[in-house]
Amino acid sequence: METRLTHLFALQQVDSQLQEIHELKGDLPRVVAELESTLDGSTMKLKELTTLVTQLKIERDNTDVELISCTEKIEKYKEQQLQVKSNKQYDALSREIDTMETLIEQARKNLETFEGKLQISQQDIGLLNKEIETTTAELTEKQAELAEVNKEHEIEETRLVHERAKIVVRIKKEDFDKYERIKKAKKGTAVVAIKRGSCGGCFNRVPPQKLLELRNNNYIYMCEHCGRIIVSDDVVEKSSILQ
Ligand SMILES: [Zn+2]
Repeated sequence: METRLTHLFALQQVDSQLQEIHELKGDLPRVVAELESTLDGSTMKLKELTTLVTQLKIERDNTDVELISCTEKIEKYKEQQLQVKSNKQYDALSREIDTMETLIEQARKNLETFEGKLQISQQDIGLLNKEIETTTAELTEKQAELAEVNKEHEIEETRLVHERAKIVVRIKKEDFDKYERIKKAKKGTAVVAIKRGSCGGCFNRVPPQKLLELRNNNYIYMCEHCGRIIVSDDVVEKSSILQ
């Protein structure tokens, strides 16, 4: 049992050091991830807008062609009207001209709409490009900062991760699960040393009877107040030799 406790305490030591490194990195990993996601979103939006602008330009050009074609047809019908022999033929051409004029009117309205949309889209593209530029600059800066911090702690972190793996294989699954559960609930600290008869986690006193039991290292003693595993000085000493 003492070995089980020793391993748990050793694991806690390693995890606490890993947590310290993690805290040194602070917000940087999250900030970098957020900036990357913002940049992805903006880039996608820019792509969509660029496609829209291309489509609008095609539609605008097609409408221009339609306008010219309708105008030419009206000219042609008007010339034909000068040569027709009957009123019936003349009226038929007048109706064609009316149809063309309605089409021209509609085409002009469409042109206005396209132009309006084009203008807005191009403004949006301008804004988006500026946004992308700012985000990219910020991201580059934060990535460099993070790389610097990572580099600074890389060796230590790798050593600790290996150390952890070595300890974990020696821990019984039920002990490990218990450890992880408490660690998660207690902000990273699952195992604490006894300190002057009190829990090293919440500093509440351990009842004298329990203190004796705890010193025998016969079972996993959990603090009645905070639920953390409390270990004796013996265990603390032995786990330091282990490391
Ligand atoms: Zn406690």
